[in-house]
Parts: sequence; C-alpha cells; structure tokens
Amino acid sequence: MKHLETLAVHAGGEPDAETGAIAPPIHLSTTFEHGPACERRAGFEYQRETNPTQVRLEAALAALEGGEAALAYASGMAAMHGLLDTLPPGSHFLYPRDCYTGLRSLAQEFLPERGVSGTALDLADLAAVRAALRPETRLIWVETPSNPLLEIADIAALAEIAHDHGARLACDNTFATPLLQRPLSLGADLVMHSSSKYMGGHSDTLGGALVFARRDEWFERAAHRRHVTGPVASPFASWLVLRGLRSLPARMAWHCRNARALAERLATHPAVASVAWPGLAAHPGHEIAARQMRDFGAMLSFRLRGGRDAALKVAGALRLARNATSLGGPETLVEHRASVEGSMRQSPEDLLRVSVGLEHPDDLLADFEQALARA
Ligand SMILES: *Cc1c(COP(=O)(O)O)cnc(C)c1O
Repeated sequence: MKHLETLAVHAGGEPDAETGAIAPPIHLSTTFEHGPACERRAGFEYQRETNPTQVRLEAALAALEGGEAALAYASGMAAMHGLLDTLPPGSHFLYPRDCYTGLRSLAQEFLPERGVSGTALDLADLAAVRAALRPETRLIWVETPSNPLLEIADIAALAEIAHDHGARLACDNTFATPLLQRPLSLGADLVMHSSSKYMGGHSDTLGGALVFARRDEWFERAAHRRHVTGPVASPFASWLVLRGLRSLPARMAWHCRNARALAERLATHPAVASVAWPGLAAHPGHEIAARQMRDFGAMLSFRLRGGRDAALKVAGALRLARNATSLGGPETLVEHRASVEGSMRQSPEDLLRVSVGLEHPDDLLADFEQALARA
C-alpha cells in the first residue's frame, strides 16, 4: 500500500478526463442526461443520489481509511444519524459515557422513538462492556479519543467483543483522522467522520462521512437511506473536503506538535488541576493510545484549580485563541463546554476544551501563560 501521505495527496485526484485539469472540476448540475429508458451515460442520474465531485471524495475517504466503500454526507451528524437509522426497531447499542453531545441527543431523544435503545458506559472498562451486552445488542459505537475528556478506548478489544456477540463496531474517528488512527485496520466495521473538522480543516465547510470495511448489505442500506432521505454532501462541500484532505498529513503533524507543547506546559502550571491529552504518560489511556494511534492528536482539555470562575476568566482573557465551538481548523479555539452543552450538560464546570491550531507554539504558549495569570 502507498503511504497515507501519498494517498492523501492523490486519492480521488485523477486529472479531469475532458480538460486535463489537475484540480478536480465541480459539477453543480442536479441532473444528468440519460437515454430514453434511463440509460446512464457515466453512472449519474440525480445529485441527491451521487455526483461526480462526491464520488471523488468518497474514493479518497475509502482509500485513507482502508475501507471498501464510503458515503459522504452534508454533516457529521447526518452521517451519524444515517448510520444509527439503519438499526432495526427493538435493537440496542452501546456508546461512550463521554461523547459528542449530538450522539447523546440521538441516543436519548430520537432513537427511543423508533424503539432503539442505547446504553452509555465507560468503554475503557471491558468487563462492563461485556456485562452491558444484551441479546438484541447490534452495535458498539466508540469515540476515541472522546469529547471533551479525551478518554481512550481499545478499538481492537472492542471489535473482538462486538464480533464474539454477533454485533458490529463503529468508530467516530473525527478527533484522530485516518492519519493518526485507522480503526478498520484494528477490526472496526465502520468509521464515521465529521469532515467539518480536520478533514475540511479550515472552519469553512460542513461535511460528514461513513467508511465501510466491506461493501455489504449494511452499506447498501445506508446508501439507499441517504438517497431517499437526502442528507447528501453538496458538490461544493465535497470539493472543499477533498481539497482539505490534500494537506491533512502536513497539518496533523503541526497540530500534534503544538498540542504536545501546550499540554506539557499546562501540566506543570500551578493554576491547572489536570490536563487530559493522551500523549501525556500520566493519561490513563496513554499506553493504548500509543499502541493504536500514530500520534496523539491536537484536542485537549484542562481543569482549573479555581473552578468555574477561573475557567471563565482564562477563556475570556485569551487573545490569540478564540472562544468558539468546533475544532480542527488552523486557528486555536477554546470552549467552556459546560456553557454550550445546554440540556445535555455533563462537562465539569472547571473544564476548558482546546482545539490546538497551527500558530507558532511560542505565541500560543505565551497567550495561555498571560491568560492563566488571571486564574
Ligand atoms: C463535530 C463532531 C460531530 C458532528 O459533526 P457535524 O459536522 O458538526 O455535524 C460528531 N462527532 C464528533 C467527535 C465531532 O467533533
């Protein structure tokens, strides 16, 4: 196999057959001419089903994750919902207690209406995972590292537990990206992404993806649902994510380097009670992360000794890092999670989450230093 760096640059990037254009064309057409009995000329019929730009993106995503097939969606939540919507009524799934809030909403508000139930638990506790399985458990959903506590779960061990039970393992790989972690190679059956984050990489497009280990009936069901219900990625959004993938390896290396510098500095700062970043040897998931990840990512969170007041003071005093939700863009973003979680509030009040950006590390450290002086 080619190196991931090479795949990221070339996958889905064949020059345009008609013009030789190196950058892929964006076909905005919603509809494609066909023969009188709907004979397709190049496999396309209507944009809600597929379109040429999206097909390029899906080829690139499948190659990067090492899957047989991929589906691009309008957002990460559309992808997550598209997948969970394939669970039949009466089925059950496991998901992490610390996870993206959208997953918690689906599990607690939406899926029960369809007779699908979910159990939240600590997926690092494999005995608890085995004990939570029911005859009707069809899926284990893992998010590692998790949001916002950066908890680590053992993907290979969870795949084995799921498969022994006749269930499947799906992994939200948004924080790690395929550059740092490839769940399918560890036994997972499916990878989900919010490509609004590192893959798009510039805080300027929404996108989501499912990558399937096998082009099987599960893939067909999800593809059919997407075609009928319509949460498909637009040609322009597909184009932006595809463009983001080209520089993903270079960006991830820089992101990880900056995160290490910031995590190490925060870990020794007197105003900081604890830092959650899996690259620190003291992190409870460090060993597993070191085994299953190539580097530790650029999401981290930390807790202030001074509680909620100190957390809000620090967030308000940062000048370079901006207070905003989302992650994976060039700019460092900080967020008091407890304030944004609304009815799904679960994060500690003294916690700030940081998406470490691509600034020079000295400037970043100086910004946190001056802000922490007010804590
Ligand atoms: C952002 C995010 C999502 C949801 O993706 P959207 O593109 O915002 O819909 C899901 N999982 C994780 C881990 C995320 O960070």
